[in-house]
Formats: sequence, C-alpha cells, structure tokens
Amino acid sequence: AVGEANARALLRSVRPGDLVTLHDPQTAGLAPALHRAGVRVVWRSHIGTDAHDESTDRAWAFLRPFLETVDAFVFSRTQYVPTWLTERHVAVIQPSIDPLSAKNRPLDDDAAAAIVRRMGLRAGRRPRERALYRRGDGSVGVVHREPVSLHSLAPPPAEAPLILQISRWDPLKDMAGVMSSFAADTTSLDGAHLALVGPDVTGVTDDPEGSRVFAGCVELWHRLPPRSRARIHLACLPMADAEENAVMVSALQRQATVIAQKSLAEGFGLTVTEAMWKSRPVVASAVGGIRDQIQHGVHGLLLEDPHDRAAFAAEAGGLLRDDGLAASLGAGARSRALEQFLDDRQLCQQSALYQVLAAA
Ligand code: UDP
Repeated sequence: AVGEANARALLRSVRPGDLVTLHDPQTAGLAPALHRAGVRVVWRSHIGTDAHDESTDRAWAFLRPFLETVDAFVFSRTQYVPTWLTERHVAVIQPSIDPLSAKNRPLDDDAAAAIVRRMGLRAGRRPRERALYRRGDGSVGVVHREPVSLHSLAPPPAEAPLILQISRWDPLKDMAGVMSSFAADTTSLDGAHLALVGPDVTGVTDDPEGSRVFAGCVELWHRLPPRSRARIHLACLPMADAEENAVMVSALQRQATVIAQKSLAEGFGLTVTEAMWKSRPVVASAVGGIRDQIQHGVHGLLLEDPHDRAAFAAEAGGLLRDDGLAASLGAGARSRALEQFLDDRQLCQQSALYQVLAAA
C-alpha cells in the first residue's frame, strides 16, 4: 500500500518512456506501478550475500513478485545475483564515492584536527578555537555541534595513535567485537586509543536496531576495567546538518592512524572506500565487497576470519608499530580508490547500461 501511494506521487514527475532506477528492497514495491505507466525500470540492490540458502530463497520469494516486470538489475558483486535471474538483463556495477562531496573533498590537517578537537575526540582544544571548513557553496562553515552522545573519560591525547571505526550501529558492523578485541589486547595496542563512531541512533529512521546496538556497546564500555575504558571512546554524530555530519566523518577519517572495518558481513563497504581515498591504512574483514576493494598487503590488511579478535588486534597493532607499512598501504589504497572507486567509473558503466535499455 505504501509502495502504491509513493508510486502515485512519483508518477507525477515521470512520463512514459522515462527510465527510473530504484535502489534497494524498500523501493521494490514501486516497480509494478511504474511499469504499468510505461516507465522503464532498473532495480539496483546494494545488499547481497555470497552464499544462497533457505533464508535467501525466502527473501527472494517475497521480493520477486514485485520485480517480475523490471527491465534490468544491478548488483555490486557477481556473487549477489540470484540464480532465478539468469535469463534477465543483469549488470554488476560497484558503488563509488564522489571526491567532491563534503565527505571526500580535501580538508587540510589543521582544519581536520580542529574539528576532531571540537568533537571531543582529541585533547588540546584551544580557547575560542573555531572548527572551520569550506561548504559546498563556497561559504565558510563552522562545526558548532558536538556528538549527541559521547562516552569518553577524557579525549585521546594529541600524540596517541587513534584507531577508528565509523559505522551504523548495526550488529553486522561488530562495533562490540572491535571494542572487545581492543580491550582484551594487552600488548600490541598499548598506548593507542579507539574511537567507535556512528550516527545519532534517533536519526536513522530505517535502522531500527541502532538504539539497541548502541546501548549494548555503552553497557559493555561501562563494564570494562577503567584502564581500557580510558582508551575507548563512543560517539554518536548529529545528523541535523548533512554537510556538517559529512565533514565530521571526513575529519575523523583523516585524523585516524588506522581505520578498522571489522564487519561480519558487508554489501560493499563505503567507509572502507572513503578511508582508502584518504590514504589511510585499513584493517578490514575479508567479507563481501571489502574483498573486491582490498588486496591484502597492497591496499590494506584483510582479516580472513572476521570473528578472530586476537588477529584483529595483532594486525592493527602491527600497523601502529610499522610506519613504513602503514604509509605504503595508505598510498596503495589511495591509488586503488582513484582508479576504481570514483563516480566517473560508475557513471560510464551506468550510461552504458542505460544506452542498451534505451535502444531496446
Ligand atoms: N556514515 C555517516 N555518518 C556516520 C556513520 C556512517 O555519514 O555517523 C556514512 C559513512 O561515511 C558511509 C555510509 O554511512 O558513507 C555507510 O556506508 P557503508 O557502505 O559503509 O555501510 P552501510 O551503512 O551502507 O551498511
């Protein structure tokens, strides 16, 4: 019913012969109404699983009736294409980042450091210091919001190495696992700090598990020995101003010594792409689209078993001790992102697909 109502609203803006790309399962219900109105439809799934089993069969059985009339399908990995689509028009197109967006355009070190101090995630905030950045319209923006929720005994010292994972508060991102690995390690991560950062859990309306997962992380943090708690920081970022939120993410990514993405599953993993674009050394699980982004030892480090907490701590600790390796992985990551994961590549692939559909 919601799909039908949304389709009626959408049909006020599109005409027969137009081409509409629908993203993700949430929009699948729009497809039949668009087709009836003579609109060509591409359905793009940003999620998927490498293995197909009874659960995926049930999910597809639910979605399939909405997708019968779709003209073409796009997936992020070949492994995500379901077997029932073999006779249909399917393209595999990896996602990309926009290097000119607030999250990915250049931000100098001083500006990034001031923003991170403003957020309470680095010590040394100067009196009357302002966290400035250039807004997309060319004006000067000031980061004036702070994390909506911050669990931290004191900001990490200016010189302490910082490990960062930025993700939604979703069980599959395993924020709790990152925290436990870090807290359990008594040698390789000594002296380092860990920041686990995600969006305001009241702000992501299609993420119902967010508050529960964040609350679980806070509870775990309170139970840690004080020595570990002092080196672990949990923050929820305000979502009220999308550009300010993006600049906060960018500043944190740029100021991190190592970026972690210890996901248990991952459709593609744009946080990894964003870190690679910023020449950061990444330690990430070898799951889903992360496998396509990183070749182990060249563009970052891959954790073969995402549940292996000791291995995670060892890989992150190794990077903290080896500046040469961190720099070479950061450089490898940057060139990989430049060659493969910017939006010009995606635009070319999409326009090739649209040309085929327009000619059909
Ligand atoms: N993100 C953000 N603010 C946050 C946490 C995450 O803007 O507080 C962004 C992050 O920079 C990335 C996206 O959310 O662009 C997450 O995409 P990803 O593919 O990594 O994972 P998904 O959330 O789609 O599973």
